[in-house]
Amino acid sequence: MDDPKLSKSRRSFVEGMAGGALAALAVPAAAQPAEAPVPAGPRPLAPGYPRPPFPVQQQTWPGLASRMQPRPDHGETSYKGSGRLMGRKALITGGDSGIGRAAAIAFAREGADVAINYLPAEEPDAQEVLQLIRAAGRKAVAIPGDIKSEAFCQRLVSEAARQLGGLDILVNNAGRQFSCDSILDISTAQFDETFKTNVYAMFWITKAAVPLLPAGASIINTASVNAYDPGENIIDYAATKGAIMIFTKGLAKQLAKQNIRVNAVAPGPFWTALQVTGGQSPDKIPTFGQDTPMGRPGQPAELAAVYVLLASPESSYATGQVYGAVGGRGGP
Ligand code: NAD
Ligand code: MG
Repeated sequence: MDDPKLSKSRRSFVEGMAGGALAALAVPAAAQPAEAPVPAGPRPLAPGYPRPPFPVQQQTWPGLASRMQPRPDHGETSYKGSGRLMGRKALITGGDSGIGRAAAIAFAREGADVAINYLPAEEPDAQEVLQLIRAAGRKAVAIPGDIKSEAFCQRLVSEAARQLGGLDILVNNAGRQFSCDSILDISTAQFDETFKTNVYAMFWITKAAVPLLPAGASIINTASVNAYDPGENIIDYAATKGAIMIFTKGLAKQLAKQNIRVNAVAPGPFWTALQVTGGQSPDKIPTFGQDTPMGRPGQPAELAAVYVLLASPESSYATGQVYGAVGGRGGP
């Protein structure tokens, strides 16, 4: 609640909730043990994912998925692997929570060893993911640190490759989004941090990784529906996502000669920590995702298979592509 980046109106809304609606929010923690066994038998044809209204909630950035109500579904109890990434070595930024966690769980269950990067404040979420990777019988590597530093990005890549014994999948997924109703409220510091996290870090990490990547490797960047249909209150963020999309398409042309594929995923609204830590104004959380044709936000688990497909040689002719999952509106 003490995040200086919260706008005045948002801060008073949050503070107003602190003693009232927020305190009254007594939703029990969803029972979702980190190492719940993957159930046998067929998957449900239409999983009953949560729909709005959601409980009023707000966390100080970067937040924890494990404290969200309801807890996001990252595939902990549902994703079943079939050896599609056997023996592969993946680095995923923002692998502690949300979309990156869903990719990390799926990659491990498909047979990959996985290194995740995250911020030190996210250690509780990261520990859950590391346990899940190990429970899948794969090597789990934790490399916390701030990707706004070029020097750290270089260390991140070399350390991931050293501990994994190589690198052939890179997922640039970490991201930052702070909602501001007016351009007049976007400080230079916020603009800079958003571009450093979403664009510069992707550039630094990719630049460090390319010399290490073998033919057949796959780079996957997380773009957004905002690259095509920008939200009016996240214009700095949307600009980074447009940059990621174009960077992906250009780099794909350049690296095709080395048979390294570069693709992006463009999610619509997904139920993740990014949204309840300033990504949306707090008053929009209860109805988050309601304005899509699906009438609900996506759950990170619903994107896992897209990352697996793009990481796998099964999609060996797909490069420079952007895969959407947007609930029906604004896709690539
Ligand atoms: P999330 O908060 O669960 O994940 C974002 C992660 O980014 C954090 O867990 C954190 O580890 C990492 N991160 C942020 N700043 C960092 C820094 N300076 N150093 C190191 N790590 C840092 O939220 P998410 O929604 O899963 O976000 C993952 C990606 O998906 C982001 O790129 C986001 O822009 C994108 N995306 C999300 C949505 C959505 O609706 N949730 C929609 C489109 C795109
Ligand atoms: Mg996180």
